[in-house]
Amino acid sequence: MRSAVAAQFEAQPPQAQSILIVDDDPAIVQLLGEMLKPFGEIRFALSGEQALAITTSFTPDLILLDINMPGVNGLDVCRRLKANPGLREVPIIFVTGQNDLTSEVAALEAGAVDFIAKPLATPIVVARVRTHLRLHQLTEALKHSARTDALTGLPNRRAFDEELAAEWRRASRRREPLSLLLFDIDHFKAFNDSHGHPAGDECLRIVGQAIAAFLKRPGDLAARYGGEEFAVILPATDCPDALRMANALVRTIADTAITLPNALEKRRVTISVGAATVELPAPGTAIAALVECADSALYRAKRNGRNRAEFQPFGRTVRNIDHDDPATDPRGNPIER
Ligand SMILES: [Mg+2]
Repeated sequence: MRSAVAAQFEAQPPQAQSILIVDDDPAIVQLLGEMLKPFGEIRFALSGEQALAITTSFTPDLILLDINMPGVNGLDVCRRLKANPGLREVPIIFVTGQNDLTSEVAALEAGAVDFIAKPLATPIVVARVRTHLRLHQLTEALKHSARTDALTGLPNRRAFDEELAAEWRRASRRREPLSLLLFDIDHFKAFNDSHGHPAGDECLRIVGQAIAAFLKRPGDLAARYGGEEFAVILPATDCPDALRMANALVRTIADTAITLPNALEKRRVTISVGAATVELPAPGTAIAALVECADSALYRAKRNGRNRAEFQPFGRTVRNIDHDDPATDPRGNPIER
């Protein structure tokens, strides 16, 4: 499965925590480092510039940030981290000698979650750090489960929609093709009827795992689209490659044994796949039209006997395209911008 996004879905919420301590006073850095050592990995920065440099390649679970530093001060560091989508969610606690109301308000307005005044008392620092690390962990776990299908562990429909939109934008920027496979398990209702719903769930789980294992390239993303339907996003993939992948996927699933929950019987299922490719996704064209294409190819795969893949060129489906959509012309073809 895809490396970057998949890692996010597969990873359990991190247990070992990492903390970045930023202060221009080495004595404070050392003191905080000693206090917080039990939490896990501790890193240091002695200036705002250094903190910004470190966070380009390291995402801590929490940042303790001094306000008064020469050069880029703590408030600016905080604002810049909060403007970065990859670091926005990292909780920041300000640690400062300025324990007046104005500084505290400025710190919170810059996006900090808390404010600790010097001189530092170990129990206060430890308690606040523990609280914010825990809240951060819970938030991350919630975000993870909101985007994950509980049964298969694959990204869910919501995550799929977000990823497809993101890949569309990326493909449009890089002027690369983008392919989509939509597929479902053949005769799944009959499978459920004859083996029962627990077996149906097991079948979905095994098929989900087989798809995840099938995808080797970083960037490819499999998702549970709904019911017995799955989807695969294939960035930088043209028609012939998409069709090759679709056919390989059909064979992979046909070769996958589904062990029924009674652990005695094995069954096999097949899938029908619809593939579609947009050779050059233009910004503003209807992403839904690509899904429609893959869907009509899937319909054709079903009609042509199942256990097979079909391809539908993008922009050739008149059926189901919203003619009021300004991104498509009256015949349903995407308008190049
Ligand atoms: Mg200072």
